[in-house]
Amino acid sequence: MPLRLYNTLSGQLDELTPSDGKELRMYACGPTVYDYGHIGNFRTFLQIDVLRRFLRLQGTRIRHVMNITDVDDKIIRNAAAAGVPIGEYTPLYERAFLDDLASLRIEQPEIFARATEHIPEMVDLVERLAAVGAAYRTGDGAGDGTDHGSWYFRLAAFPTYGKLSKKDLEGITDGARVDVDEYEKDSARDFALWKATKPGETSWETVIGTGRPGWHLECSAMAMKYLGESFDLHAGGEDLMFPHHENEIAQSESVTRKPLARHWMHVRFLLVDGRKMSKSEGNFYTLRDLLLKGYKASAIRMALVSVPYRHQLNFTFEGLTEATNAIDRLRTFVARLKKASLSEGTTVALQEAADRAEAGYFAALENDLNTAEARAPIFDLVRMMNSALDLGTVLAGDRERVLAVLEKFDAVFAVIADQDAEPTRAALAWAESQGLLDKVAPEVLVQQGLTDADIEALIAERNTARKQRNFRRSDEIRDELAAKGVIIEDAKDGVRWKRK
Ligand code: AMP
Ligand code: ZN
Repeated sequence: MPLRLYNTLSGQLDELTPSDGKELRMYACGPTVYDYGHIGNFRTFLQIDVLRRFLRLQGTRIRHVMNITDVDDKIIRNAAAAGVPIGEYTPLYERAFLDDLASLRIEQPEIFARATEHIPEMVDLVERLAAVGAAYRTGDGAGDGTDHGSWYFRLAAFPTYGKLSKKDLEGITDGARVDVDEYEKDSARDFALWKATKPGETSWETVIGTGRPGWHLECSAMAMKYLGESFDLHAGGEDLMFPHHENEIAQSESVTRKPLARHWMHVRFLLVDGRKMSKSEGNFYTLRDLLLKGYKASAIRMALVSVPYRHQLNFTFEGLTEATNAIDRLRTFVARLKKASLSEGTTVALQEAADRAEAGYFAALENDLNTAEARAPIFDLVRMMNSALDLGTVLAGDRERVLAVLEKFDAVFAVIADQDAEPTRAALAWAESQGLLDKVAPEVLVQQGLTDADIEALIAERNTARKQRNFRRSDEIRDELAAKGVIIEDAKDGVRWKRK
């Protein structure tokens, strides 16, 4: 059965299948690379990963595009504060984002598109909008030899504005929701397509003037470049519905007169301890924060995927512990089942139980990606199989069938195969490089062999090696310690060490 997914545009569950019968073309708004990703961001990217993985499990081919916003106000501000051009500032955070995706086993989209690499496409879209009367320029002719014109979208030229979020246009007036700019706009509701830059800011010299693109323009231009004027699905967090996605629709549809996307998916915002996550509230967590506290990447993934995307997830540490235990149960069961020595054959009751679990699992995901309901039949099956193993009634054919069901579960949930060591190791290496070892939970240091006692033991071994004139070994230990951020100094009264 095809997936039925809630469509923000139609306000109902609609079947999601490739409109060209071949490949599902989807666009998901990506990160603004000015900082490390937080668990709210990853909640959204993980739910899009659930969608991706489930479609693939059903045999659907996908062409998934994600933008990387590598120029915007925050990036310009942060890069200026760091005293580097934006092109030197963003790669670190883009790399960190890709590493975090890998840690959480989020599949990469087929295409990543950086905003700064698509300026000509954006300029072209502004020109097309101007040609149909939907874009205008303000503040032109500054008189100082530079061209300071900003371009705006004329909302009055797009009467169906608001159809996605069902916002009443009359309600959209001044305030935080509209771009504030130094230049006169024809209407307070009009939004910026292209921003004139102030001296010293990053800018591009183009036929529409010297400036930089607005964020909304970027997504419209890149989505249409890689997916065509009209594609199957557009996704993002619920905060993007208005104004970002409305603006994308207005920009694209004003020139194409075709629906930008048939289907719109929005992931509900995550709360932490029942509150909006914010740095000032002290409940703000990046993925790295949680890994350094000793939580496993798989547990973080499990906690963030197990609540369906349209439900409000309240993230708590108890929830993370529950996820850790749930994964343990699955991994322990799989190891036990694989080790068991079983006779050939199959059991009717267990084969039926496996079929039921698989059917229940698929039915739940087909129904608007209900991950919570999809988990239940899998854990029921594990409970039943554990009892059957206790009783010795499992046969080899049952094992095969049950492992096949679990493989389908893991094709989407991706938590059973234990790949937890690397993300934790990488987070620790990152913490060392940033001088953040004081943020690392003691158990993480123990796992990675970095407690004070471990260090003392290595130094003792090095002293012995030196006494035996085994300099190869003693150098090796010095290098190993250095790689773990520990510097040793040979002093008269012995060896002193400190963490970098
Ligand atoms: P940003 O880098 O802020 O543009 O956000 C990247 C993605 O994360 C967007 O799809 C946002 O909608 C989403 N997002 C940001 N905060 C949260 C949150 N607290 N819960 C869920 N999604 C979020
Ligand atoms: Zn976007």
